[in-house]
Amino acid sequence: MIRRFRDLASREPGAALAGLFALALAAVGLATSLAQVAVSVIDQHVGGQGGLGFHIGHTLIEYEDPLQAGIVLVLLGGGLYWGYRVMSPAMQTCPDCLSEIPLEAIVCRYCTTQVGEVPCE
Ligand SMILES: [Zn+2]
Repeated sequence: MIRRFRDLASREPGAALAGLFALALAAVGLATSLAQVAVSVIDQHVGGQGGLGFHIGHTLIEYEDPLQAGIVLVLLGGGLYWGYRVMSPAMQTCPDCLSEIPLEAIVCRYCTTQVGEVPCE
């Protein structure tokens, strides 16, 4: 599926971008909903009657919304990192025999063509 998406992205970048945008919107909605549930659970067990907050002098500082935004940030950041790891190419194509070989390969395993730079010592 990832490979098909990469092929689509190279042939139809607009369609791939629209798909990614719709996926991102759905991910933001899901992350927000999960964060609301998490904050609600925390509020029920920790917050008491006044909700999540504390007083500094006479000023009430409520931290439900920042907590929820932080959870959304962590969820989306983790999702973006996972997407980056999945989408970054792990394979390359040998320019000589057009075989798929690992990205870190220096020599093609099929035709022994040098495809990368030999590390100097
Ligand atoms: Zn090759």
